[in-house]
Formats: sequence, structure tokens, C-alpha cells
Amino acid sequence: MDFDRWHQGWCLGAEKCESPNFGPRPANAQVDLIVVHSISLPPGKFGGQHVQQLFTNQLDWDAHPYFQTIRGLEVSAHFFIERTGRVWQFVSCHDRAWHAGVSQYRGRANCNDDSIGIELEGLEGETFEAAQYDSLAKLCLALGKQYPIAHVAGHEHIAPGRKKDPGPGFKWDVLQKNVAWPSQYFPEF
Ligand SMILES: [Zn+2]
Repeated sequence: MDFDRWHQGWCLGAEKCESPNFGPRPANAQVDLIVVHSISLPPGKFGGQHVQQLFTNQLDWDAHPYFQTIRGLEVSAHFFIERTGRVWQFVSCHDRAWHAGVSQYRGRANCNDDSIGIELEGLEGETFEAAQYDSLAKLCLALGKQYPIAHVAGHEHIAPGRKKDPGPGFKWDVLQKNVAWPSQYFPEF
């Protein structure tokens, strides 16, 4: 996959699946943060299209008891990386996706304003696949050429106490080694 070809904030190496859940970034936003998340629907069930359906407001809330607990939720992320490493994009990186919620990091609040959200298909606390680390590193490196990325953090780091993803099963040292960015870019691990 070629992650280095972009058009208007869209990575041409990703499968495009446009979400209506986004807005403009504030003027002069410095997009310097990548936020790593984990998601699966229902939790622990991999494969299928439920995440894509959620991010495009197409999920059938009655299809599973868990979905009723998130009924009406309107969210998105810029990217979703399947267990196989396949990458989907839902929102242009020029725009503000709705993945972080109430959050604060590197002295700034409202991380949706100036971050890029990447969801890994997985269950928080559990492990992730080698193919996902590979795609994540390639995507991070490509993003680093498009935006002044200087921080990578988990949802758990930007919303501590409220969020726990991706959790202890995510290997920050593997990501750091794969992208070869300074350790100061990452949470302590
Ligand atoms: Zn999250």
C-alpha cells in the first residue's frame, strides 16, 4: 500500500469510506498529535463492517444488544486499521473528526481540534496483530510528512480516568521502534 500519496487530506493508500461526522478544524490548528484508539463491535468481535457502519451512521442499533448501549452515537475517526492491516479512512485529515471527546494533552484541551485519530480493530487491554503495527507505523510516517507530528498518545492518555483504550496490550515500544521517532514523542512506557 502506498501511504505517501495524498489528496486534500485523504491518504490514497487507504480505503475511502466517507463519514458525515466531522467539522472544520479551528483556524491555524497545529495538527501535531496522533491519537491511537481501539474498537471492535460488538467488543471482541473482529471482521465485518460494524465499525464502518458506526462511523457512517448506518449501524443497525437493534442488530446486537451491545449496540443498544451506544444507540444514537455519532462518532468518527480519521482512520481504522483492521486486524489484517487493511486501512480505512473516514474523514479528511484537514478536517476535525470526532474521536477524542473531552480530552487534554501537551497543555492543550479539545484534542479533536488538532489531532488525527487512528482506531485499531481490537479490544482494549488485549494485544494487536503484527500487520496492524506495520500499517500503523507506515501511516504515522506518512502523516509525519503531511503534518508537523510531534506527539503520539493513546485515548487513555488524553482522557485519563474516562478512557482506557488501546490499553496495556498495545506495545508502544514496538511503534516507537518502527517509526524511529524520539521517545519524547510518546507516552512513557
Ligand atoms: Zn478511543
